[in-house]
Amino acid sequence: MQRLSGKVALVTGGVRGIGRGIAELFAAEGAAVTAVDVLDPAGSAGSTGGVGQADADGTAAGSLEFGRLDVTDEAGWARTVAAVEERHGGLDILVNNAGVGSYEAIHELAQDEWNRVLGVNQTGVFLGMRAAIPALRRSGGGSVINISSIYGAAAVPGSLAYQATKGAVLSMTRNAAITYAGENIRANAVLPGWIRTPMTEAQTREFNDTVIASTPMGRGADPRDIAYGCVYLASDESSYVTGTDLVIDGGFLAR
Ligand code: NAP
Repeated sequence: MQRLSGKVALVTGGVRGIGRGIAELFAAEGAAVTAVDVLDPAGSAGSTGGVGQADADGTAAGSLEFGRLDVTDEAGWARTVAAVEERHGGLDILVNNAGVGSYEAIHELAQDEWNRVLGVNQTGVFLGMRAAIPALRRSGGGSVINISSIYGAAAVPGSLAYQATKGAVLSMTRNAAITYAGENIRANAVLPGWIRTPMTEAQTREFNDTVIASTPMGRGADPRDIAYGCVYLASDESSYVTGTDLVIDGGFLAR
């Protein structure tokens, strides 16, 4: 029995990096997954399982489809959620994963950059939850997973806008958890440590080495390590878990 059999999931920033890892593992666990991104899915598109196929035990296999959505686009969110409901008959899981890095300290941070980062990392999460909650209600409940960061809980020098947004994601997740708890809609945050993705590959070697050196396990991890935690939060195994922070960071925050 797959852990997400029969569930319908929407994952943002799902063409590559952590979002891709989540989308692929969700599909492998039986979910019908729509992965949306600003990136053109052409060339990145693939599928895990197959629509309508079945496993040896008769369980319906998962599926993975790609679509376009800029998470700052309010109208785009409405279209995306409607399309998922129409195609799959409902929505059970939203993963707000799309995010952008930002590295400037307060004194060097331009307001345009501040606005850009808040737009994607914070407003995008708000718009996603707002668009999805009516659909989750129609499904009789569901699971929202918001990808924060170790930098939502701990400060390091610089990266003001990024840390501000990732802290806000924790607050917004708790707010959603207690606001909708009575409607069987759960909301939890995931705090990854250093994960090997295009985002971290684009960072300076010095930045990456500093984070990994501060990680008690002495290494980074792969998108799959985050995806396994998300499968738990998306599945009925976590039916009593809401408003929590799942830290997956090799011990970074335990120091
Ligand atoms: P990534 O490699 O850059 O992948 C993120 C994906 O989201 C990219 O395809 C990106 O497209 C897309 N995206 C950016 N802006 C978007 C928008 N407005 N609407 C829709 N999609 C958009 O990043 P990642 O490392 O996988 O990170 C995923 C999430 O985990 C982010 O929220 C990040 O803050 C968080 N996180 C990552 C790490 C880590 O070590 N990697 C650690 C803690 C938290 P573009 O490439 O065109 O921007």
